[in-house]
Amino acid sequence: MSGTTGMGVALVTGGGRGIGAAVARRLAGAGYDVGINYRRDEAAANAVLEDIVAGGGRGFLVSADVADEASVASMFAAVDARGVLAALVNNAGIIMAQTTFDAVSLERMQRVFAVNVFGAMLCAREAVKRMSRRFGGAGGAIVNVSSAAARWGSPGEYIDYAASKGAIDTFTRGLAVEEAPHGVRVNAVRPGIIETEIHADGGEPGRVARLGPTLPMRRGGTADEVAAAVAWLISDEASYVTGAFIDAAGGR
Ligand code: NAP
Repeated sequence: MSGTTGMGVALVTGGGRGIGAAVARRLAGAGYDVGINYRRDEAAANAVLEDIVAGGGRGFLVSADVADEASVASMFAAVDARGVLAALVNNAGIIMAQTTFDAVSLERMQRVFAVNVFGAMLCAREAVKRMSRRFGGAGGAIVNVSSAAARWGSPGEYIDYAASKGAIDTFTRGLAVEEAPHGVRVNAVRPGIIETEIHADGGEPGRVARLGPTLPMRRGGTADEVAAAVAWLISDEASYVTGAFIDAAGGR
């Protein structure tokens, strides 16, 4: 399939699984031509694309490791070939095994920051160069998927991850103000404890079942409950909202 809709292209990093997949589906439903980025799991990303197309939407797959600058450059070249970039959702993110901080290696810190922080920054930089009116763009919207961990700090689990999301929050504020006069809105959603496969990567696939009942709402959230907030921030309904944070965390 080629060409774009009038809404332009929305690129969702890590769009093949979890929260990113739910975001991709919603943005396709809103009329965007959705770039579904994945790193490893092509089958999952392709299943999201098939769903979108079956529902009458548009999308395409784009593989890239967001932590790799050359890979990000190729991804944006693929986006440019497809149409005009209107939205970026920086969703790709990783955690590593739960541990206290004394056991966290420099290599681990570097990988977590490379994906969660520098990956989002590299993608945002490329998006701004295309969307900002400073460079002849038509404006656009960026949503960074942060985490309630930025507020909680994740003691005993993954402080390195929490700190990477704290960096994302500061980055969101700075870029939002820098680009506010130039037509690019930049916001963040901070999910709490959401039912996805990420918790298995931390070594506790049952984490949502364990912690959900301790939350004010007494349950974990769904990927689609997070995606709804992301899609709203991308939409024109949020036209006067920038540098803002939506906590989708069940009250905690
Ligand atoms: P997930 O189910 O583990 O999915 C992660 C996605 O990110 C996958 O699509 C994966 O691609 C992609 N990805 C990972 N590293 C990548 C890289 N280097 N380059 C490109 N893509 C990469 O995770 P999730 O729970 O949906 O998390 C999505 C975002 O929400 C993350 O930023 C996470 O920190 C944040 N978040 C999640 C929760 C939660 O409780 N689930 C809470 C707060 C914040 P592949 O499929 O190819 O591996």
